Amino acid sequence: MRDVLLIRYGEVHLKGQNRSYFMRLLKEDIQHALSDMGATITSGQGRFYASGYPKDREDEAVSRIAKIFGLHSVSRAREVEKAWEAICEAAKELMKQELVSRGGSCTFKVFSRRADKTFPMDSMTIARELGHVLLEEFSNLKVDVNSPEVPLSVEIREHAYVYSGEVLGAGGMPAGSNGRAALLLSGGIDSPVAGYMVMKRGVDLHCIHFHSFPYTSERAKDKVIALAKLLAGYGGSVVMHVVHFTDVQMAIYEKCPDNETTILLRRAMMAIAERIAAKNGCKALVTGEAIGQVASQTMESLVVTDNAVTMPVFRPCIGMDKVEIMDYAKRIGTYETSILPYEDCCTIFTPKHPVTKPKLENIKKSEAKLENYEELLNGAIERTETFVVTP
Ligand code: ATP
Ligand code: MG
Repeated sequence: MRDVLLIRYGEVHLKGQNRSYFMRLLKEDIQHALSDMGATITSGQGRFYASGYPKDREDEAVSRIAKIFGLHSVSRAREVEKAWEAICEAAKELMKQELVSRGGSCTFKVFSRRADKTFPMDSMTIARELGHVLLEEFSNLKVDVNSPEVPLSVEIREHAYVYSGEVLGAGGMPAGSNGRAALLLSGGIDSPVAGYMVMKRGVDLHCIHFHSFPYTSERAKDKVIALAKLLAGYGGSVVMHVVHFTDVQMAIYEKCPDNETTILLRRAMMAIAERIAAKNGCKALVTGEAIGQVASQTMESLVVTDNAVTMPVFRPCIGMDKVEIMDYAKRIGTYETSILPYEDCCTIFTPKHPVTKPKLENIKKSEAKLENYEELLNGAIERTETFVVTP
């Protein structure tokens, strides 16, 4: 008998011929997540198993596994031989612990699953018989088939596995299984959420941040790197590009109408991001925009912003209210960092009355006032700092 973590995966089973590729990615991700714990990862029919980690780090192992995209859930299980006696012993021991931690009495239900059809009892019989065994052993137990406090589960697979409960995983698709995209990462609440959502679907992220030193401080940049680090916690690493945006920004402020500066900045950011993205094999841009959230995110503004690039722009937060995005940020652990009070390059010199219904022709005319626009964009790209961020 030994302790293992029994790990279930999500949508991967739908992927036909690519299944073995997805399985390999997932196994590597689990191996990587537990690499400092001396754990062994094996794959069986429909499950992965982690074993050999230090018992006192089991909770840590579970929470790391729960962050891996493509996994459905994880359970702390006892692995025993496929023999009725051994299964009963493991179940009794587990129930004894549950009773102690629940003050001596509780309700339960036995769930069972027989993947190995050579096992002589079917799953209904296992559940029924094991229920009897437990009721006989412990007088303070009661069956509750609707909402049991202890869902005692048995799975018959490579071995028999006995456990109660599961920790839900992150869901989604294995990291890196769906190509690469570039996230425009500000220090705000929305863009980390947008980044998380595409990462969750298996997309590798490059993060692009526009920094206007000395108008935005080193601490503002550090905050964005801290956000990238939090995102890296979900995919192993992200590549960060910090663009020196000051010259572009100053030129726009000097030469263009005050009420159009925000939308012009947005277009410049997109144009620069598209070029950095293309150079790095990214197939799409990702932003944290939502319809109507601010002046630069009205339908008209989004259309004018999109027109600055040909690469597809994904906006996973598009239909979300701010409070919904905030809740999401809290759930993924980026909120506390996002609300730290450092300035963003979009918020310095914000015009009092930004256009909310920009017309593309007008904006293009204003942009044309920047005769050296190409040079400015290229200058910003040349001075970009690129580095890898790990959790
Ligand atoms: P966020 O909370 O993500 O900062 P926001 O509500 O503050 O969003 P804006 O400032 O209009 O909205 O930015 C819209 C989107 O543009 C952001 O979600 C982000 O993708 C991108 N963006 C804004 N500022 C920057 C920046 N300095 N560097 C990189 N991307 C940025
Ligand atoms: Mg912002």
